[in-house]
Amino acid sequence: MQDVPIADALARAGLGGANAERGFAALCGAGLTRPGKTRIAENKIAAAQSALRAAFVRACHKPACREKAQRDGRAVVETAAEHCDGCGGEDNRAAVEEMLAAMQRANRTKLLVVGGAPNSRDELKSLCGQGCELRFLTKDDRPGRRTSDSHVAWADVVAIWGSTQIDHKMTQAIRGPHVITCAQRGVAALAQSVARHVNRER
Ligand SMILES: [Zn+2]
Repeated sequence: MQDVPIADALARAGLGGANAERGFAALCGAGLTRPGKTRIAENKIAAAQSALRAAFVRACHKPACREKAQRDGRAVVETAAEHCDGCGGEDNRAAVEEMLAAMQRANRTKLLVVGGAPNSRDELKSLCGQGCELRFLTKDDRPGRRTSDSHVAWADVVAIWGSTQIDHKMTQAIRGPHVITCAQRGVAALAQSVARHVNRER
């Protein structure tokens, strides 16, 4: 069983530094870890992220985001804008809308996303809505070579997202002029990479 440092899982959820202790306490409260532990099994990460989402609302320094967070009911943690539940989400929405528009202009409708964190995949899916045809390929699918080849052939654009979430062997098999890599985890970053690629292709 693979495990990761709890501090990393917390930082990814915007609960790094001074907020880590509160995040850790929330994970203990949810029964996902206990005092003294420093690592957490990878198969608990999704549950940990939902526990953290349930416990905290994250707000950046902007007054509008803080006010919104104060009204939320969940405990407020101060985070960088990229983790902010106020404007971070808006950034993602704007980037995905731009990506969908760029894909439409370039006549690209089929997007295959390889890897990516579960939360981010969910968010991307809901933001894309009916705006494009979206498929995901993750290491949990354990796709054979033939399956992954057929997905890659189906897609107009293939985006390999966040290298740590996916088997190196699997990404090596995924090749072609329409394959791009986005090392950053954020939804906005992925959408921007795809938009840049299809804009360049036209
Ligand atoms: Zn904000």
